[in-house]
Amino acid sequence: MTELLLKAGRLFDGVSERLLENAYVAIDGGVIASLGRQAELEGGEGSFGRVLDLGPRATLLPGLINMHTHMSFSSGAAVLADHQRESVETKLIRSVENLKTALRTGVTTVRDCGTVNEIAFAMRAAVDDGTLVAPRIIASGAGVTTTGGHLWFCGVEADSEVEVRRAVRAQAKAGADFIKVFATGGNTTPGTNPLAAQYTEAEMRALTEEARRLHLPTASHAHGSPGVHHSIAARVTTVEHCTFLTADGVRYEPEQSRIMAGEGIYVCPTIFQGASKFAHLDDPEIPPAQRDFLRLQQARFELVNRLVDAGVRIVSGSDAGVAYNEFGDYPGDLILSVEGTGLSPAYILKSATGVAAEALGREDLGVLAPGKAADVLAVQGNPLEDIRALLDVRAVVARGRVVH
Ligand SMILES: [Zn+2]
Repeated sequence: MTELLLKAGRLFDGVSERLLENAYVAIDGGVIASLGRQAELEGGEGSFGRVLDLGPRATLLPGLINMHTHMSFSSGAAVLADHQRESVETKLIRSVENLKTALRTGVTTVRDCGTVNEIAFAMRAAVDDGTLVAPRIIASGAGVTTTGGHLWFCGVEADSEVEVRRAVRAQAKAGADFIKVFATGGNTTPGTNPLAAQYTEAEMRALTEEARRLHLPTASHAHGSPGVHHSIAARVTTVEHCTFLTADGVRYEPEQSRIMAGEGIYVCPTIFQGASKFAHLDDPEIPPAQRDFLRLQQARFELVNRLVDAGVRIVSGSDAGVAYNEFGDYPGDLILSVEGTGLSPAYILKSATGVAAEALGREDLGVLAPGKAADVLAVQGNPLEDIRALLDVRAVVARGRVVH
């Protein structure tokens, strides 16, 4: 007896832009056993423990991967102040709620890019052993930053080539799935400089060399151009934000983009959904640092298009947890990505499924095919025609269990 059968009008597998019509997915032991056209289903529905028929208008697609989250962050106007005021227990409870919220929207995997080790790794273990029903977690734990640097309050501070090597070793020992590094300052941490590099090129190279020795991918937060340059020179796995920011705004750099495309460095641009929560940029409730960031949004949409044209592979992540950016917003973020950049829904959906899994080095995720993890989202409508279909969730299956 096979455990679960899903049926729907169509299926997007996370790779091909051609939909499979009248599709089924058979699931057993947390893995996709088979999929195809319903007419080809062998043995009939009687051989399944449970049948979920989502109807002719529904589309099955791989569970979404949010490539950039901070699970314990408050999404409030002052994330640092909240973090300092709250106990570790409060932050842990919020992490549970944040990830459960994400799961309901169809996110079945998060790559967490900076949360204190004791929360990030305890949450990951609870999901892995089934104690907590939430998206699977791929976690950096504490990010590597300079003394007082960006996200120091949930980071490991390191100020030289020797210290960054030591920080990588410490995070590997603690159980990190990848190493997060802060190549520039950021808006969440007052007193840091987003325009300037926090680390020299030599320090960044030392960090990635040490991570590669330990078989750990690297993700580098970089807004200002010097930090982007150092990240690319050090051959990080993914550049987060990749804003190419200068004192005069966003300034695209074709040569750097050519290197990223050639070296297979992914960019996670974190298109910022928080913008839609404010009617006007002069809304007095927007903190000044956030307002500056939102003003750049159109330039960042154009930047993403130029990166795509240069052959750089884009993955989607929302930066959930930072100011005004909630864990339930990721589908909205993907919608904004399509509407803001003009890229096709298929391109953006792949950046949150098949291509994201590729960037993670996780062949078992992000794709609907036999043998892959049974992480499946069902939405009403055709998201390849209208990305807003993501907002009408019909079912979420995580590791073969119907969780929503
Ligand atoms: Zn972040």
